[in-house]
Amino acid sequence: MIKANDPNIRSWIKVAKNSDFPIQNIPFGIFSKGRIKARPATIIGDTVIDLKALADLGFFDSVDFNKKVFNEPTLNEFLKLGKSTWRAIRERLSDLFNKKNKELQDDENAKDKVLHAADEIEMLMPVRVRDYTDFYSSKEHATNVGTMFRDPENALLPNWLHIPIGYHGRASSIVVSGTPLHRPKGQTRPNPEEPPVFGPCRLLDFELEMGFITGQGKPLGENIPLEEADDYIFGLVLFNDWSARDIQKWEYVPLGPFLGKSFGSSISPWIVTLDALEPFRMRPTKREVPILPYLDGKANRRINVNLEVQIQPEDQEAHTVSRSNLKYMYWTIEQQLAHHTINGCNINAGDMMASGTISGTKPDSYGSMLELSWKGTKPLSMPDGSERKFLKDGDTVILKGYAEKDGVRIGFGEVTGKVLPAL
Ligand code: CA
Repeated sequence: MIKANDPNIRSWIKVAKNSDFPIQNIPFGIFSKGRIKARPATIIGDTVIDLKALADLGFFDSVDFNKKVFNEPTLNEFLKLGKSTWRAIRERLSDLFNKKNKELQDDENAKDKVLHAADEIEMLMPVRVRDYTDFYSSKEHATNVGTMFRDPENALLPNWLHIPIGYHGRASSIVVSGTPLHRPKGQTRPNPEEPPVFGPCRLLDFELEMGFITGQGKPLGENIPLEEADDYIFGLVLFNDWSARDIQKWEYVPLGPFLGKSFGSSISPWIVTLDALEPFRMRPTKREVPILPYLDGKANRRINVNLEVQIQPEDQEAHTVSRSNLKYMYWTIEQQLAHHTINGCNINAGDMMASGTISGTKPDSYGSMLELSWKGTKPLSMPDGSERKFLKDGDTVILKGYAEKDGVRIGFGEVTGKVLPAL
């Protein structure tokens, strides 16, 4: 049992009933406020907690680690500390903000230095992402896409049930929630009888995903076995893998996605630790064919996280277009990491591994407009009477997620991104 996960703990910081950030969460992110430049923080309720200020005041003296990691503009150095230190720091925070603990609670002067209202700070990229891998691990999504683009009779390619399929994505264009993105331009071939054309993407889409962020892996050449995978996974974020379907369709054979994906991916700013998600782990779905031993084992567990996608047209209310769940993944995060490293590929602190679009079995649980509108053949109705086959300029896409059990809600906040017109 991880002590900080005890559902009975209450904080002396006020937490609203449906808050994503009770004291059992303690996620990690990077904030700035006025003269405070980017540095690490956590959040309880609506109160952002400056970890450098806490360290400077000696509140981490009981935990053995280099306090300079809290003076960094990203969490990469913190992530290099490894699982046992991440856990000890989270336990210390749980203890310090426990109602029963008076150390900081009664020190108004120190509280002034440490605590900030969430609406008075800015959240920044939590890590400098050096490498980004995008998996394709929802069977429903892979089946839907295979049905639409290839052959309904053979929707899944022969390798899909044996390999956690993935490709190397673009790290430089991963942005934090709230960053708007211009509609990409590129080469498409709308008429297969005609030569390709150039212009703004017409089939702009979101992909509902979650991403996990790693600690420092093993040296090049060594692999991370399945049963050790959780030791190298720090936590998860919401991940919108924006996609230009028309660019993607024309370019993706034979080597896979390229410019149809690399113009942007958006993440939620708070990394929710794998430790905090421990109570929500589940057995994997049944394997449909035997898998190779390096991918098989008890270490494989899914995570039960409720997910929601909203589209907010310009000057209008947000409208929910999909509800899904991270548990619909066929391949687990442990399988993804074990597979990623089995050839000796090394991973670094701050690498990002995204799940792939998370689609459920029902049409209202699909994780992309491509599937929700079934390639544009079934437009969605919006509350203002307009229709959506794909995204329009001015639309803001909002992904939300939370896990809930025993009266504890561990939330991810949200990731938002607005579509601006093509430049
Ligand atoms: Ca994707």
